[in-house]
Amino acid sequence: MRQHIKSSLHRLVEGNIRRLTALTSVGITVAGMLLLAIIAYAGTAANKSASERERTLLQNALNRGIARALNEQKSVAWWDDAVTKITDESVDLPFTDSNFGIFLTETYGQDEVYILNGENKPLYIFTEGARGEPAAFERRKNALAPVVDEARGNSDNALMSRPDVFGESQKDYKTLAGVFEYAHWAGHILSIDNKLAIVTAIAIIPNQDKSLLKTPANLLVAITYIDDPYVTDLGNSLLLDSLTITPKPPSAEGTVSEPVIGDDGTRAGFFSWKTQRPGHVLLSFILPLVGLGVLSVALLAAGMLRRLKKSSEELASREVQSRHDARHDALSGLPNRPHFAEQLQDVLNARASGADDQSVFVAYVDIDRFKDINDTLGHHAGDQLIKAVASRLGEIMRHDTLLARYGGDEFAILWIADGPHAATALAERIKSLFASRFEIDGQSLRVTASAGIATAVTETATADELMRQADIALYEAKAQGRDRAVFFSADMASRVEERMSIETELRRALEADELRLNYQPIVSCDTGRISGVEALLRWRHPERGEISPGVFVPIAEQSGLMPALGEWVLRRAMKEATLWPDLQVSVNLSPVQFRQVDLQALLGGLSREYQIDPRQFVLEITEGVLMESSDRTSRTLDAVHDMGFKTALDDFGTGYSSLAYLCNFRFDKIKIDRAFVAGMSKSESYNKIVNAVVSLGKGLGMAIVAEGVETETEVNVMTALGCTELQGFYFSKPIEAADMSKLLTTFKPRLQPAKAAEQFELLPFAQAS
Ligand code: C2E
Ligand code: CA
Ligand code: CA
Repeated sequence: MRQHIKSSLHRLVEGNIRRLTALTSVGITVAGMLLLAIIAYAGTAANKSASERERTLLQNALNRGIARALNEQKSVAWWDDAVTKITDESVDLPFTDSNFGIFLTETYGQDEVYILNGENKPLYIFTEGARGEPAAFERRKNALAPVVDEARGNSDNALMSRPDVFGESQKDYKTLAGVFEYAHWAGHILSIDNKLAIVTAIAIIPNQDKSLLKTPANLLVAITYIDDPYVTDLGNSLLLDSLTITPKPPSAEGTVSEPVIGDDGTRAGFFSWKTQRPGHVLLSFILPLVGLGVLSVALLAAGMLRRLKKSSEELASREVQSRHDARHDALSGLPNRPHFAEQLQDVLNARASGADDQSVFVAYVDIDRFKDINDTLGHHAGDQLIKAVASRLGEIMRHDTLLARYGGDEFAILWIADGPHAATALAERIKSLFASRFEIDGQSLRVTASAGIATAVTETATADELMRQADIALYEAKAQGRDRAVFFSADMASRVEERMSIETELRRALEADELRLNYQPIVSCDTGRISGVEALLRWRHPERGEISPGVFVPIAEQSGLMPALGEWVLRRAMKEATLWPDLQVSVNLSPVQFRQVDLQALLGGLSREYQIDPRQFVLEITEGVLMESSDRTSRTLDAVHDMGFKTALDDFGTGYSSLAYLCNFRFDKIKIDRAFVAGMSKSESYNKIVNAVVSLGKGLGMAIVAEGVETETEVNVMTALGCTELQGFYFSKPIEAADMSKLLTTFKPRLQPAKAAEQFELLPFAQAS
């Protein structure tokens, strides 16, 4: 049952937490991934578009490089002097050197300058910083041919076409307007001797005197190598960091490249440069940072969830625990009374609805004299015993039996069984529980228990009813002398209820001081005078009238009221004893009181309080006390003696009378029970027993009191037998203290030893003494 509650509650909590965990982790993962993806995308997109832009810039720069070369050439190619001073017939070499060869190479950094005539025959060559032989043009002829062709107006070649940046910038050229149809040019990037170069060609035409124009015009062709300085310059102007041409695409981080392909399709390595990476911060700094953030949010959430899970689990198990605690007894771990009642009612309901037709039994088991065990061995031992009994119950009872502890030393059993022997089987099991001794704190204890068993006879029996019946049966088992199981019967109820009501009434009476003591004189056989009195409890109930101590004293003993009642008797007796300082005052001590651990302390305290002489008092104890624990009993007896109190063994001859007791325990008096005295005249064996007791007692130095002496014959016989004192209605009934004081003044000795002896002789068995 407990397991069930626990697991279902835990399942609920676990389910909720799992759902929350799943939701949170999915949420964090999705949001985190999305965030990271957005940042990564933004970063790479920014980087990519920056690289793209740089590539475009580079291409534009190359186009502008071509336009610039053409512009530089134009400054000398479109010039009247250039037309007139360089002809097929003659080339003004100083002019051409200074305005073409030297000018273009040294001023503009062009590397090779060629001037071709209308048939593309070389007229002038300037290479490697010096004018060369026109014939040297041969080695460049093929390479330059497509550009030369294009500049001649034949654009049908295999070269990649480029935007005509130069042409665009010539639109506003007014003066030349007339010769524009001859003003052809071409510019490309080609690989010359495996070196990348800007190759430009432009027609040499007049800029003023249009009549000077001849067609086809001479052509100025130039090669500008895109060498390292050029590339460095290019890089600087474009703000491309470390722009170089490398044979292979670079692998370094942050370096991008653009294949360098000549317009003729030859590949001449790669432009590579350190790209500006605007996304770099995003990717290398913000992305990891956000990643870290997402991770820590995830960790935080995980931690919080774990904490939440733990605390909810704790809460759940605490709830289960407290639910369990509310329904269970802490010491034994067994269900408690409310839990038991609830379960019992469930079983009864099931039975009433016809779901179960087995017999339902309820048994109450109560450890006998548990209080004494607690008092003598300590509460720890008491607790150990409760646990031991609980675990034995668990072992002996069937698995499906519901057990409970009702607090104190009381257990309950709910037993469901079939067949005519079910009830006795249950009683047998309870008995077997206590068959072997209990090992408690290194001591081996014989423990007995009383049990009350009730069964549901009618279909409509309620849990309360059944429990009440079991309780009554238990009460009866105790009243019958404990160590037994008693089945509830209808007639038992009224009896027990009567006892129970007496118990409550007695409690009240004690508090309301409704009790009194009566005193019965005890007469000395020697003097015939009153030598002492016995204090006897009296209770006049307002409605029931006088209730005999023979009825209510056992009830007080059983209900735990005896210590209080006994103390009240001692107090009252000690107080009233001052009335008769010369008399011995006998007080009855219940075995319950005698077993009390603090009896000595109580007697000592009261003696001081009432300033009595203990020697005036006789404590009457019944044999029952002696049967129990001999060691402790003799120790208590010794202690009481040492304080000065006298002791009497009461009711001798009833119960378990054993002559051995007389030898083993120190008593000052033996009180021969009334039944013996009354039986004397009827049975000879009684005579013999009393005779033996008297001689033994006398031999041990004890006084012998005969109780219940009612007739003169009894007086004489008991005296003759050697009793030292007599007590009974013959002398007086128990009377109020005031009446006792009066009696003392009027009492006449009614006993003549001589006469007694005479009577005695009539009895045949007396000769023996
Ligand atoms: P007990 O200690 O044996 O007391 C003597 C009982 O015998 C008294 O009964 C007394 O009235 C009765 N009795 C005395 N002489 C005669 C007689 O000649 N004939 C007959 N038939 N009876 C006589 P009581 O007062 O009813 O007490 C009954 C028992 O109740 C006592 O028996 C004692 O065991 C118990 N009891 C009485 N008072 C106290 C008390 O203060 N403390 C304790 N623990 N037990 C008490
Ligand atoms: Ca007595
Ligand atoms: Ca007695």
